[in-house]
Amino acid sequence: MVLAQLGGSISRAIQQMSNATIIDEKVLNECLNEITRALLQSDVQFKLVRDMQTNIKKIVNLDDLAAGHNKRKIIQQAIFNELCKMLDPGKPSFTPKKGKTSVVMFVGLQGSGKTTTCTKYAYYHQKKGWKPALVCADTFRAGAFDQLKQNATKAKIPFYGSYMESDPVKIAVEGVERFKKENCDLIIVDTSGRHKQEAALFEEMRQVSEATKPDLVIFVMDSSIGQAAFDQAQAFKQSVAVGAVIVTKMDGHAKGGGALSAVAATKSPVIFIGTGEHMDEFEVFDVKPFVSRLLGMGDWSGFMDKIHEVVPMDQQPELLQKLSEGNFTLRIMYEQFQNILKMGPIGQVFSMLPGFSAELMPKGREKESQAKIKRYMTMMDSMTNEELDSSNPKLMNESRIMRIARGSGRQVREVMEMLEEYKRLAKIWGKMKGLKIPKKGEMSALSRNMNA
Ligand code: GDP
Repeated sequence: MVLAQLGGSISRAIQQMSNATIIDEKVLNECLNEITRALLQSDVQFKLVRDMQTNIKKIVNLDDLAAGHNKRKIIQQAIFNELCKMLDPGKPSFTPKKGKTSVVMFVGLQGSGKTTTCTKYAYYHQKKGWKPALVCADTFRAGAFDQLKQNATKAKIPFYGSYMESDPVKIAVEGVERFKKENCDLIIVDTSGRHKQEAALFEEMRQVSEATKPDLVIFVMDSSIGQAAFDQAQAFKQSVAVGAVIVTKMDGHAKGGGALSAVAATKSPVIFIGTGEHMDEFEVFDVKPFVSRLLGMGDWSGFMDKIHEVVPMDQQPELLQKLSEGNFTLRIMYEQFQNILKMGPIGQVFSMLPGFSAELMPKGREKESQAKIKRYMTMMDSMTNEELDSSNPKLMNESRIMRIARGSGRQVREVMEMLEEYKRLAKIWGKMKGLKIPKKGEMSALSRNMNA
């Protein structure tokens, strides 16, 4: 996703600034201008960017910087906080409760991914033990009911709709009533979209909303709409009580900054993002890990969750212990590669592991990256225990490198590339040194520590 480029530009701007010997107002301004440019290019609304710049200037105290405090950290923290603030409207959205009927209505422009997202949302909750149901109140688009029916059938989710009835309000009310009787605890109403915002769309939405009294209205937005995001989101918010946002197509080439604008316009949080056309390409959206990833800080909380999920229980304490000692050896890298290959949708896991995403595993090139990992592992298979367990980079001298290349049937330059990769990861993972080892359920504390 292009947001990764935004993260890269911001990190570079901070890096350049912290390279300066003296940080005065001019250097800080240059850095902030660079960041502003990057945000604008990513389609974040101008006013938001300007406010952010003003706030950072208020927060960052130049005297502190001059006194030799860690400049990079202070500025990065200020930017991190400001981006989080942009994405966090300050109040959580309504969350449906299992076992208690909730009606959730989806709104958005045609083509935004609304129908697909309704099913993803239903499927996500179904997997977590809910009893969801889908109601197709989109009578405007020919084929909308068929699409919903097809998706719902695939996911084994009950659905309601009609080929004959043209009144969306009537269908919505009938559907909601039926599923309430059937004790479904999450009734999802898909409404019509139009190609552009128009009075008829908003009027219809209002009527469906009045008749079904949804507990939550979710605004679905295509991440590629760019600078139009703010106005579009605001127009929807003015017509119905939007309480949450889902941003779709985050896997594509969209700049993604529109998500930030949509939050500002609706004062509602982004709760999920769509990352592909398939039913399970759908992720819970958490502000802090997202911004961490954006700034190349790595999503440690997601990473720890994955460790707990995938690394066998008996191996977890040992791995975490080694990492907290700052001892990132080649063997640990090898074991992580093994885990990654096991962990399933490889792209998603990678983007969660600090340092692994953009460089080692560019989006859309999963197969190549997988092959690369396997190649690295073959080379590591030719290493001695001493080499695998050492964290001393000097150990790997020329004759050892030649031996490994010969043993694994690879080129010397490939072994060197693998060792470079190890050094890069060791630097990033070295940040886990000294961390309190969290137990399951203590992830957010760890994430706070890492982000501090
Ligand atoms: P609606 O008109 O708003 O109901 O939109 P649809 O649900 O019909 O989706 C429009 C197109 O976008 C379809 O081809 C979907 O498969 C596609 N789509 C929806 N969500 C995503 C997503 O997160 N990523 C990608 N790549 N495509 C998506």
